Amino acid sequence: MISVAEAIRIVRRESELLPVEPVGISECMGRVLACDVVADSDLPPFNRAQMDGYAVRAADTENATGDAPARLRVVGEAAAGRGWRGRLQSGEAVRIMTGAPVPDGADSVQRVEVTSEREGGAIVHIERGTKPGQFIVERGSEVAAGTVVLRAGETINAAMTAALAAFGYAQIEVSRRPRVVVLATGTELVAVGERPGADQIRDSNSYSLSAYATLAGAVVERLPFAGDDPGQLVELISICAERADLLVLSGGVSMGVYDFTKPALNQLGAEMFFERVALRPGKPTVFARLVAPRRTLVFGLPGNPVSVSVTFNLFARTALLAMQGAHDPALVEERAVLGHPVKGALERMSYLPTRLFTDDDGRLIAEPLKWGGSSDFVAFARATALIIVPEGVAALEAGARVHIVRLPG
Ligand code: AMP
Ligand code: MG
Repeated sequence: MISVAEAIRIVRRESELLPVEPVGISECMGRVLACDVVADSDLPPFNRAQMDGYAVRAADTENATGDAPARLRVVGEAAAGRGWRGRLQSGEAVRIMTGAPVPDGADSVQRVEVTSEREGGAIVHIERGTKPGQFIVERGSEVAAGTVVLRAGETINAAMTAALAAFGYAQIEVSRRPRVVVLATGTELVAVGERPGADQIRDSNSYSLSAYATLAGAVVERLPFAGDDPGQLVELISICAERADLLVLSGGVSMGVYDFTKPALNQLGAEMFFERVALRPGKPTVFARLVAPRRTLVFGLPGNPVSVSVTFNLFARTALLAMQGAHDPALVEERAVLGHPVKGALERMSYLPTRLFTDDDGRLIAEPLKWGGSSDFVAFARATALIIVPEGVAALEAGARVHIVRLPG
């Protein structure tokens, strides 16, 4: 049995980078950048007015007040997209709009609210003095041309698409999406549209697994499930492997007489990396690689619906993100304060479902969910995170500081 940390280390080691492909900027959300994004121009590209008002020389407006305004000649107008090309002289002002380039010779902008036009707009009264630089965003002060603004390995979010657009990235190099095939196994399973007979249950794992894989950037194919039949399993696994970068199986990895996932993988000549992790829930998690017909990573996850969700997100999600070249492929641990006591396990690290909230003192509180164990997926549906209880810790009291990981989605 290996530790969770060791299992994650092995998953990262065995996950091979996928090839890179170009995508259009409108299709790049959630993809992992395969190259650095470099500013091709200064931002702003010119000294930009931050207010509607008048571009002036600060020296001309010194000591200006409502009673004794600076009286300046209006010599032109600068709008966004249409600057004023002259050079501002002493005693002059240019009417200017937000986003317009500040004319040469001007060193500040006064906002329109403390000005008033006279003589049909030929003259402006500036009723408050300006300071040099006021309401001007200087060229390159936000980003200088040549700066790396996004790095390879970052996952593109909505805000980042604006940076891509601003610097001319109509197309962007990202990792190809991993192809995932999900195959639930178990003779007791029936499809969602069917009413289970005596001794049967509806397959729920293949839906949660497909959803989590999609969240991790994969293109997912969900197969009809396999029975607990070694011959059928061998056949289906080899068919899946032909078209998957990563195959996720649920069920059939425990010690039961009808648990055939490991024998099937062995029969197919799979390289086994681990078969048991010191984890609760999820001890019998299997990680392997098929080398024929192609190199396909395989996770055999224990069939309990909660175990499936926990082990997918700890291990299979990490593999999918690592294959895409993501910086931090594994779930990131954060600190929180425990809301109620929890029990740990002697030899295994526990990942217990929890809801997070912030208390009046601004502390992140992890409130453990009341649940009936690793088959209680209805309770688990309310979880937003998992509380980590280290192995060997029998119990943790309310108020204890704990590590948590947030659940995707
Ligand atoms: P196993 O890992 O095959 O021993 O299954 C453990 C438990 O999970 C059993 O109670 C199974 O009936 C249940 N189970 C297995 N596969 C699924 C599935 N696809 N959907 C819902 N429950 C499942
Ligand atoms: Mg089973």
